[in-house]
Amino acid sequence: MADVGPTITPAEMADLVESLGTIGEQPGGGIIRHVYDPAWCAAREQVATWMREASLEVREDAVGNLFGRLEGDSPRTILTGSHIDTVILGGRYDGGLGILSALAAVRGLKQHLGKPRKSLEMVALCEEEDSRFHGNFWGTRGILGLIGPEELEAHTDANGMTIADAMREVGLAPDRFRDSVRTDLDAFVELHIEQGRILFDEHVPLGIVDTITGLYRFRVTLEGRTDHAGTTPMDLRRDALQAAAEFATRMTRLVADVGRPAVVTNGWWDVRPGAWNIVPGHVEFSVDLRHPDEAIKQRLAADIRQLGQDIAAQRGIAIAYDIASDVLPMAMHPSIKAELQAAADRCNVKWMPMVSGAGHDSQVMASGVPTAMLFVPSVDGRSHSAAEYTSPEDAARGATVLAEALRGLAY
Ligand SMILES: [Zn+2]
Repeated sequence: MADVGPTITPAEMADLVESLGTIGEQPGGGIIRHVYDPAWCAAREQVATWMREASLEVREDAVGNLFGRLEGDSPRTILTGSHIDTVILGGRYDGGLGILSALAAVRGLKQHLGKPRKSLEMVALCEEEDSRFHGNFWGTRGILGLIGPEELEAHTDANGMTIADAMREVGLAPDRFRDSVRTDLDAFVELHIEQGRILFDEHVPLGIVDTITGLYRFRVTLEGRTDHAGTTPMDLRRDALQAAAEFATRMTRLVADVGRPAVVTNGWWDVRPGAWNIVPGHVEFSVDLRHPDEAIKQRLAADIRQLGQDIAAQRGIAIAYDIASDVLPMAMHPSIKAELQAAADRCNVKWMPMVSGAGHDSQVMASGVPTAMLFVPSVDGRSHSAAEYTSPEDAARGATVLAEALRGLAY
C-alpha cells in the first residue's frame, strides 16, 4: 500500500458541483430532480459520462441505482456514494456532494494507486428524499432487499402514476426489482453535508458521525366543540386549538429542558372548521421527536403523551394519538468509523464526533452493511433550500479524507 492517497483540489470539487448543480435547476433558483423524472435522468447521464471517462465499469441496477466500479483482486466491495434525487427546490449539495466526492475519490485512487485489493465502487443512489413517491430510501432498500412487492403499485406520485410505471418510463423493469440486492458489500461510506450549523459555528471542517438519530412521529387529534365566537363566554368553551397550543408550547419546553440533541417539531396543523367566527372544535397536528438515545427518546415520548392527556382532561377535550413512525437510532460501524477517524488524522484535517439529526441512506444501509458517514459544513446550516452551500475548500478536504479512508479499506 502506498503511503498516501490522492489530494482532491477545491477547483476539482467546484467544477463538479457547478456541472451537476445546473441539472434540474429552476429559473428562480433551487433544483427539482425527483426520482425517474427528466432532470434525474440527465443528472445520472452526466455522472455516467464522468465515470466512463475515468474508465470505471458503469452499470445500473433494476431500481435505477447507478454504479461505477473499479475491480480489485477480490470481488468483495467497498461502496461509497449518496443520493442523486433532491427535494422540491433543493440545493446543489444534499446528496449530490456525496456522489461527486465519491467520483473524485475513486478516480483519484485509480490514477494514483491503480488496482485495489478489494473492489471499489461508487454509487448514485436513485431515491432518498421521499419527494415524488412515499417510498423513501428506495435505492438503498433495493440494495438490501427491503422493498416489498406490493410497494410497486402502492406508491403513486401527485399525478397518480405508480412507481412501477415511472420505472418503465425510464426503461427499468420493475418486476426485476429483486435483482438489485447485493451480497458482496463489505462497507458503505457516505459523505454528506451536515444540513445543520454545528460544524459551521465551531469552525471544524469535518464531522464523523457516531449515531444517526432515532425518530418518533405521531399525529395528535383533539376534539372539543365548535361554538359561536361571539355568543360563547370564554369560561364555557371547549376550544380544541387552545388545548393544542398549550400542549405544543409545554412539550417544546419539556424537550428544550432536556437539552441538545433532543428536538421536537410541530410542523403541520389542521384547524377545523377554520373560520373567523367559530371556536375551533377539531385540531390535528404533528409531533416529530428525535433523540439518538433510544431510552431517552421513549421516555420523552411517554412524557409528552401523558402531558397531552393531562391538558385535555383539564379542558374537557378528547385526545387521541396516531403513531406514524418509530425509528431506532442507528450507530455507525465502529471499525469503519475508526477508519474515517484515522484517515482524517493522516490528512491533518480537524474533525469532531457528531450525531446526525437528519435521516440518511446510511441509516438504512447500516442495517445490512458496515456503514459510516462523514459530514462537511453547511454554511449557515442551510439545507433543503437553494441557499445550501459548502465551500470548495471544505468539499475538497472532505473528499480527500474520503479517498484516504477508501485507500485504507480497499488497498
Ligand atoms: Zn441527503
